[in-house]
Amino acid sequence: MLKFSYVSNLECPKCDKKYSVSQKQQLCECGSPLLVKYDLDALKQNFKQEQLVGRDANLWRYHELLPVEKEENIVTLGEGMTPLLPMPSIGEDMSVKNLYMKDEGIIPTGTFKARGAAVGVSKAKELGVEELAMPTNGNAGAAWSLYAARAGIKSSIVMPVDAPKITRNECAVSGSNLYLVNGLISDAGKIVGQAVKEYELFDASTLKEPYRIEGKKTMGLEIAEQMGWKMPDVLLYPTGGGVGLIGIYKALVELQSLGWVEGPLPRLVAVQSDGCAPIVKAWQDNRKDSDFWEDSSTIAFGINVPKALGDFLVLDAIYQTEGCAVAVDDNAILEEQQTIASMEGAFICPEGAAAFVAARRLRADGWIQDGETVVVLNTGAGIKYPDTVKVEVPVLEKTGRIEKEFGAR
Ligand SMILES: *Cc1c(COP(=O)(O)O)cnc(C)c1O
Ligand SMILES: [Zn+2]
Repeated sequence: MLKFSYVSNLECPKCDKKYSVSQKQQLCECGSPLLVKYDLDALKQNFKQEQLVGRDANLWRYHELLPVEKEENIVTLGEGMTPLLPMPSIGEDMSVKNLYMKDEGIIPTGTFKARGAAVGVSKAKELGVEELAMPTNGNAGAAWSLYAARAGIKSSIVMPVDAPKITRNECAVSGSNLYLVNGLISDAGKIVGQAVKEYELFDASTLKEPYRIEGKKTMGLEIAEQMGWKMPDVLLYPTGGGVGLIGIYKALVELQSLGWVEGPLPRLVAVQSDGCAPIVKAWQDNRKDSDFWEDSSTIAFGINVPKALGDFLVLDAIYQTEGCAVAVDDNAILEEQQTIASMEGAFICPEGAAAFVAARRLRADGWIQDGETVVVLNTGAGIKYPDTVKVEVPVLEKTGRIEKEFGAR
């Protein structure tokens, strides 16, 4: 008989301890994040990827590979199946003929954080969570507070005062308890940690609950399906907490075990800003985990994470796929954002632009080879960061001569 979900249990990647998926669970008792396991053998026998054809174009089309066991617990705003766009002009500009952009800018809430929130909140609902709390750099809080509102779950969100203003408004309008902190996401995290203990809230911090990864994993499932179950050669991802990269890697490994994909896994590239590059530093030093990055700062707010709880999983995914980690500077990010908008008509977020800068550099120094297929994750919409674009616009008189302005166009 076909099951809605083939989820089996939670497992610790550090000490292998197993936990049930039918109880609220946060970290392993050893302090590591937990990963969700599926009965892939049973799924392989009962289901072929062709059966996906004709299903709705959202991430729930992969419900067999997601942790929600009862369909009625799904909380959705229609997220997923974002376009995988060819980028011919920018591809030619950087000599990557087969360049694609997975565009997460058109998903509910304007960033891929909607995926983690949709699956995380749905599972929280299934487990009977009534109130959750989380620290955020903005986008995750926006997505989780809105999905929580839809699920009827109360939320408390703590974000840095410098986080993009629009994300503050998204939390506020959802009716969430929103707090600002004069500090970084790591400071917000400490406050949430305290609140969770004192008020017995469900901690939805990055990787402190196991299901957000499963939502982000669907980016990997979609890319594979959209490429006709063939792997690209290289996949670049703007990395903060790293959940997206861990999720994509997990998805591709699961697809390999199911026998649904051909060829080796893509080389995964973690892209950071040189104002906050703990993963890059660790990778350069050939280490298995990272050190806290002091005084981090970057305009690409979603990747301003000085120390990620899942750093060892990100680094493992890079090593396993023979990928790499690259840091780029804020000026290059802003320049690339404009180049892409003017050449391709896509107004992408600074984090996504960072990944394009990295692709350009890796191609220039030969790490990306001629003819390779490259997928860049644009994790969000440029319109969520209106202040990153500095414009000077000529103002015309209502009546009068226009030669001076138009003549100079
Ligand atoms: C959160 C975020 C990232 C980083 O994602 P992780 O999965 O935490 O590494 C990248 N881009 C945007 C726009 C984000 O909001
Ligand atoms: Zn453990």
